[in-house]
Amino acid sequence: MGDQIHTKKLFQGLGTERFAFAIMFKGKRCTTCKSPKPIMRIQTFVAVSDIPNPTVREATRLMVQAGEIPTVPLVTGKGIRTGEAYACADCAASAERAAARGPSFAIVVFDRLPRSEQPLVQVVR
Ligand SMILES: [Zn+2]
Repeated sequence: MGDQIHTKKLFQGLGTERFAFAIMFKGKRCTTCKSPKPIMRIQTFVAVSDIPNPTVREATRLMVQAGEIPTVPLVTGKGIRTGEAYACADCAASAERAAARGPSFAIVVFDRLPRSEQPLVQVVR
Protein backbone atom coordinates (compact mmCIF):
# COMPACT_ATOMS: atom_id res chain seq x y z
CA MET A 1 0.00 0.00 0.00
CA GLY A 2 1.16 3.50 -0.73
CA ASP A 3 1.61 6.44 1.53
CA GLN A 4 -0.47 9.54 1.23
CA ILE A 5 1.37 12.83 0.88
CA HIS A 6 -0.88 15.75 1.63
CA THR A 7 -0.85 19.25 0.26
CA LYS A 8 1.25 20.66 3.08
CA LYS A 9 4.18 18.43 2.14
CA LEU A 10 3.90 18.99 -1.59
CA PHE A 11 4.95 22.09 -3.51
CA GLN A 12 6.31 23.90 -0.45
CA GLY A 13 2.83 23.87 1.11
CA LEU A 14 1.21 25.86 -1.69
CA GLY A 15 -2.39 24.88 -2.38
CA THR A 16 -3.27 23.45 -5.77
CA GLU A 17 -4.69 26.72 -7.05
CA ARG A 18 -1.75 28.79 -5.93
CA PHE A 19 0.75 26.22 -7.21
CA ALA A 20 -0.89 26.04 -10.62
CA PHE A 21 -1.12 29.82 -10.66
CA ALA A 22 2.58 30.10 -9.92
CA ILE A 23 3.48 27.73 -12.74
CA MET A 24 0.90 28.29 -15.46
CA PHE A 25 -0.24 31.85 -15.12
CA LYS A 26 2.82 33.55 -13.69
CA GLY A 27 2.32 37.30 -13.72
CA LYS A 28 -0.78 37.17 -15.96
CA ARG A 29 -3.86 39.32 -15.47
CA CYS A 30 -7.49 38.98 -16.50
CA THR A 31 -7.78 40.34 -20.03
CA THR A 32 -11.09 42.07 -19.29
CA CYS A 33 -10.83 43.57 -15.80
CA LYS A 34 -7.04 43.32 -15.19
CA SER A 35 -7.58 41.29 -12.01
CA PRO A 36 -4.25 39.70 -10.93
CA LYS A 37 -5.99 36.34 -10.27
CA PRO A 38 -6.93 34.71 -13.58
CA ILE A 39 -8.45 31.22 -13.27
CA MET A 40 -8.64 30.39 -16.96
CA ARG A 41 -6.49 30.74 -20.05
CA ILE A 42 -8.15 30.75 -23.47
CA GLN A 43 -5.94 30.08 -26.47
CA THR A 44 -7.05 30.19 -30.08
CA PHE A 45 -5.37 28.14 -32.80
CA VAL A 46 -5.94 28.09 -36.54
CA ALA A 47 -4.61 25.47 -38.94
CA VAL A 48 -2.50 27.14 -41.62
CA SER A 49 -4.55 25.39 -44.33
CA ASP A 50 -7.79 26.81 -42.83
CA ILE A 51 -6.81 30.48 -43.05
CA PRO A 52 -9.58 31.93 -45.25
CA ASN A 53 -7.63 34.71 -47.02
CA PRO A 54 -5.40 33.10 -49.72
CA THR A 55 -2.74 35.81 -49.51
CA VAL A 56 -2.48 35.57 -45.73
CA ARG A 57 -2.56 31.75 -45.93
CA GLU A 58 0.33 31.67 -48.41
CA ALA A 59 2.36 34.24 -46.44
CA THR A 60 1.79 32.27 -43.23
CA ARG A 61 2.70 29.00 -44.96
CA LEU A 62 6.00 30.50 -46.15
CA MET A 63 6.80 31.90 -42.68
CA VAL A 64 6.01 28.53 -41.08
CA GLN A 65 8.20 26.81 -43.69
CA ALA A 66 11.06 29.20 -42.88
CA GLY A 67 10.62 28.48 -39.17
CA GLU A 68 9.71 32.07 -38.31
CA ILE A 69 6.44 31.15 -36.58
CA PRO A 70 6.13 28.46 -33.90
CA THR A 71 3.53 25.85 -34.79
CA VAL A 72 1.46 23.27 -32.97
CA PRO A 73 0.42 19.94 -34.48
CA LEU A 74 -3.34 19.89 -35.16
CA VAL A 75 -5.51 17.16 -36.66
CA THR A 76 -5.85 19.22 -39.85
CA GLY A 77 -2.13 20.00 -40.13
CA LYS A 78 0.24 22.57 -38.70
CA GLY A 79 -1.48 25.24 -36.64
CA ILE A 80 -0.50 28.64 -35.35
CA ARG A 81 -1.66 30.33 -32.17
CA THR A 82 -3.70 33.38 -33.03
CA GLY A 83 -4.90 34.49 -29.63
CA GLU A 84 -4.39 34.21 -25.90
CA ALA A 85 -6.61 35.62 -23.19
CA TYR A 86 -6.96 35.19 -19.45
CA ALA A 87 -10.13 35.39 -17.38
CA CYS A 88 -10.76 35.76 -13.65
CA ALA A 89 -13.62 34.01 -11.84
CA ASP A 90 -15.97 36.95 -12.42
CA CYS A 91 -15.23 37.21 -16.16
CA ALA A 92 -14.88 33.47 -16.96
CA ALA A 93 -18.48 32.88 -18.07
CA SER A 94 -18.61 35.85 -20.43
CA ALA A 95 -15.13 34.99 -21.75
CA GLU A 96 -16.30 31.46 -22.58
CA ARG A 97 -19.35 32.82 -24.40
CA ALA A 98 -17.18 35.28 -26.34
CA ALA A 99 -14.74 32.50 -27.31
CA ALA A 100 -17.62 30.31 -28.54
CA ARG A 101 -18.69 33.04 -30.96
CA GLY A 102 -15.46 32.83 -32.97
CA PRO A 103 -15.21 31.58 -36.55
CA SER A 104 -15.78 27.86 -37.12
CA PHE A 105 -12.20 27.20 -38.28
CA ALA A 106 -10.71 28.48 -35.01
CA ILE A 107 -9.79 25.91 -32.39
CA VAL A 108 -10.31 27.22 -28.86
CA VAL A 109 -8.52 25.62 -25.92
CA PHE A 110 -9.54 26.35 -22.34
CA ASP A 111 -7.06 25.79 -19.50
CA ARG A 112 -8.71 26.06 -16.12
CA LEU A 113 -6.97 26.09 -12.76
CA PRO A 114 -7.99 23.33 -10.38
CA ARG A 115 -10.44 24.54 -7.77
CA SER A 116 -8.84 25.32 -4.47
CA GLU A 117 -11.40 23.34 -2.45
CA GLN A 118 -10.35 20.11 -4.15
CA PRO A 119 -7.70 18.43 -1.99
CA LEU A 120 -4.48 17.43 -3.67
CA VAL A 121 -3.39 13.97 -2.54
CA GLN A 122 -0.74 11.93 -4.26
CA VAL A 123 -0.45 8.20 -3.68
CA VAL A 124 3.07 6.79 -3.93
CA ARG A 125 3.33 3.06 -4.59
ZN1 LIG B 1 -11.83 39.66 -14.87
